[in-house]
Amino acid sequence: MAEVRTVDTHYLGYPRFAACFLLLEGGRAAFVETNTNFAVPKLLEALRASGRAPEDVDYVIVTHVHLDHAGGASKLMAVCPNATLLAHPRAAKHLIDPAKLVASAEQVYGVERFAALYGSIEPIAAARVRTMGDEETLRWGETTLRFLHTRGHANHHFCVLDEAARNIFTGDSFGLRYPALQDEGLVVFPSTSPTDFDPVAARESVRRIAASGAARAYLTHYGECDALDAAADSLCGQLDAYEVVVEEADASGREGEELATFVRAGVEAIFAEAFGDRAFMREEARRAVVAMDVDLNAQGVAFAVEKRRHKRATA
Ligand SMILES: [Zn+2]
Repeated sequence: MAEVRTVDTHYLGYPRFAACFLLLEGGRAAFVETNTNFAVPKLLEALRASGRAPEDVDYVIVTHVHLDHAGGASKLMAVCPNATLLAHPRAAKHLIDPAKLVASAEQVYGVERFAALYGSIEPIAAARVRTMGDEETLRWGETTLRFLHTRGHANHHFCVLDEAARNIFTGDSFGLRYPALQDEGLVVFPSTSPTDFDPVAARESVRRIAASGAARAYLTHYGECDALDAAADSLCGQLDAYEVVVEEADASGREGEELATFVRAGVEAIFAEAFGDRAFMREEARRAVVAMDVDLNAQGVAFAVEKRRHKRATA
């Protein structure tokens, strides 16, 4: 079983917002998540602090290709000459040939903003990439890692389970839990961001993680959570409500701006229902911590509604 060190990437300049995890096994090392290119110096600093060198990194593991998880993968692989990149089969092709990934992100952010946020993302040689199937295991020294495919947040998402340590690295498939919001009890909520959100699959993934035998989850946003059952119950309750919003928005026939407004109100209501009694919902400065996620979740739900309609129309 591997020792875990949590590395704060200071993503977008915020503390404890996005993590990477440094795994230590014997004299060797592995990273779970890379964040962006701008996090790579922090990852190398943590590696150095552990007494290991870039040559000692055996694996770079990304839970999915969203850029706050895999955006630094090409740069990290370039400085760790012995590392193999482990990825979901549907994620690997985007890391080997990132052109589509970059183009779609540039469309969302604009070319200049994309460069400022993410820098340059290079192809990773296919020979250095290994895909991991659902339930596939990897023996690494004394550690065994098991990979669980977990759809719902993204179709190309897996979780990484260290069975002996009872640790599971959940990417974005076991919700987001910011340390700054935990002072009045557990605050965890699903990420339903574009373009793959599926409430039914997301719920199945949450239940599967809770039943995996892990005692603690390491969330990319952010850190260790040992209240797995309570988190799973909260996430599933919210995902039930997201499913209703998707269905009602679909049935309403609304489109474009009207759809966005309707869905946005639905997402706000889910946050109010789940956390309305918490001070952070009323304190503007702390509410800002979740503001970006509320936006992204609303966009993802609207996207899911349009996808459903498109699927029906072309069936
Ligand atoms: Zn994601």
